[in-house]
Amino acid sequence: MGNSEEARRIGREPLFKCVYCGLPQERVPTTDHDWVMLEPDMRPLAHLVPAGHRWIEVSDGRVALYEVCPVDGAQRCRIEHVLACPAQKLGNLWPWLTTLRKENGRRAERQRDVPPLPPDDEQLPDVG
Ligand SMILES: [Zn+2]
Repeated sequence: MGNSEEARRIGREPLFKCVYCGLPQERVPTTDHDWVMLEPDMRPLAHLVPAGHRWIEVSDGRVALYEVCPVDGAQRCRIEHVLACPAQKLGNLWPWLTTLRKENGRRAERQRDVPPLPPDDEQLPDVG
């Protein structure tokens, strides 16, 4: 496996400089005849990467989105440089958390409209 890994490495597309941060990113062909800019030399466990952002390498060196569910705990994947780029904003990686944050934003807004309860320290119930 080591040798074929090495051979594939030699045939790889050159690294490209990110226009936002200047760091290298790897231009890799996808199985649907497109290209994706990946973070070089990084293969985190797939379950640590949000769904829809897990790229796995197929035998011919191209990459495909990994859409197996549930995720194989030992599966590693590649990630797009944009997720690791210090100069670009992170997109909506976890849609349900984004929904929760919006809902909490509305809750917090409603709470601000309600006058706070007066302090009630002296009317604590007697113990015993
Ligand atoms: Zn960048």
